[in-house]
Amino acid sequence: MPYNWNGDYIESRADKNTDILGFGEIGGVGQLIYHNFRFADYKLKNDKKSGLLACPVCNKKSPPDLTPKDNLSGKEILTSLCELARRVDDVSEENDHKALIIEWCKENMHPYAIDYLYNALTDDNFDIADIDAEMAARDGIFSIEDFMTDLENLYNAARFYIALEAFCFADNEPAYEMYQTGRHFQGLPYFERYKLNMEIPDIDLSAAKGDLLEEMKLGNKYLAEHPLEQPPEGEFYTEPYDEYEKLRERLIDCIPDFKLRLKVNPQNNRLVFSADVNSVFDIAWYVLARMMSEDPAPEDFGKEDERPEGIMICCHHCGRFFIRNAKHQQYCDRPDCQKARNAKNQRDYRRRKAIEKAQAEKNKK
Ligand SMILES: [Zn+2]
Repeated sequence: MPYNWNGDYIESRADKNTDILGFGEIGGVGQLIYHNFRFADYKLKNDKKSGLLACPVCNKKSPPDLTPKDNLSGKEILTSLCELARRVDDVSEENDHKALIIEWCKENMHPYAIDYLYNALTDDNFDIADIDAEMAARDGIFSIEDFMTDLENLYNAARFYIALEAFCFADNEPAYEMYQTGRHFQGLPYFERYKLNMEIPDIDLSAAKGDLLEEMKLGNKYLAEHPLEQPPEGEFYTEPYDEYEKLRERLIDCIPDFKLRLKVNPQNNRLVFSADVNSVFDIAWYVLARMMSEDPAPEDFGKEDERPEGIMICCHHCGRFFIRNAKHQQYCDRPDCQKARNAKNQRDYRRRKAIEKAQAEKNKK
């Protein structure tokens, strides 16, 4: 379904029967045109060379769904992949990563070679009862390990992005927690160096008489006797926001390049200069990159009406990924999280009142 950047629905002029989606949600140069279809099921197979493979089931009894009614928009693909990654990595999750990946593909869309497979499956001569179906199924095979690598890269960049965005609102929590390792993925080290106090004071090294080894010994002796004071758990020693530009450069380096090429826009049969997307990860990266390019400059972030809507954040209570659709939204719509939000608002309110009262009493004296 086409949306504008703020998520407002725009009436589509597409032929509803074609199932090729021109996404108005991402306007301007480099529109996204991609195909959405699902295989009915997958079987897991162990291959000596490529490891564990997910093999689509495609036959007369279990035909693929080429016209899914509940298509994901680009932003929904990004958030649902990040959600999948969060569950894959969650130590308290009961399902293993293979089951979660297969479930995602069955519920949402086939992840790889989407253009190629869509064309094969919708070809006029395609026969589901024939060898065509077998060939399409073979072309749809993907490695679970490859999927996990793609998922981890996307998840890391998305978390990095969310952490940087949170800095602009003096919220360091997402960054602080990024180093925690989960069930499968590595924690991210980008912010570790801000946690520790590494500032070794100038000490008198003249006793070493210029001998480097002796100087090191003196330094170590001093540190053993005067351990550096470390910040309390949960707090950074130096403020990462001070190096925002440098951190943002690192994030930019994580984002892959996009190939643009001409594609036929099925809505009007005209050519469109479109980002080349072959996998759901290409789509998610593209949406994430567009999201980043919609952000205001960091110095404009704090201004009331500059706070961007329509970008992805993590719920402050449950950690789930979602698209923020109101300026101050920090919690997702789940009842538990709304309860937590209300409780926090009340705590903040009481704290404000207590401070006001204390100040008023102080002024009286
Ligand atoms: Zn939540």
